[in-house]
Amino acid sequence: MFKNGQIGKIDGKDKEPSLSARLRRVHDEWKSLSDQELEEFVLGIQAIASSDEIIPVMARTEGGKKVYVSVRRERDPRLRADAIRVHGRDCMACGFNFEKFYGDIGKDFIEVHHVVPLSKSGRTKTSPKTDLIVLCANCHRIVHKQRDICLSLNELKSHIGRQ
Ligand SMILES: [Zn+2]
Ligand SMILES: [Zn+2]
Repeated sequence: MFKNGQIGKIDGKDKEPSLSARLRRVHDEWKSLSDQELEEFVLGIQAIASSDEIIPVMARTEGGKKVYVSVRRERDPRLRADAIRVHGRDCMACGFNFEKFYGDIGKDFIEVHHVVPLSKSGRTKTSPKTDLIVLCANCHRIVHKQRDICLSLNELKSHIGRQ
């Protein structure tokens, strides 16, 4: 316990010992945590010491800025509108309708999915009728859940027993 009320390690001269690079990294990562969060973390380690789970749950810093460079496929917004005109706004996998569930705020909301991802097809002619489907946000995330694999509508429907 430091004289100023802070809790931590001190050396023989009541000074904070200088930290190794490794400890400094740990310190930087944890210094923003409150005593209560640190306590929860330590108790978490104790609680799992006897179980298989080795990664404790703790608050971590996020929200810093990162710059990404990426290639995005050009999309035609008219195709999206046409897909919704053709297929409507009920999820074609589970039947979810945003407006029915959320009321006014869900009006016009639905996601449009490429049956064959543009990343695979490259530059191509897209038919709103056959190349696009409409999915709710949950179903859309699930068809893209596996990296590099995209579930077909029928595969997804069979997973949720709608076929
Ligand atoms: Zn759905
Ligand atoms: Zn998609």
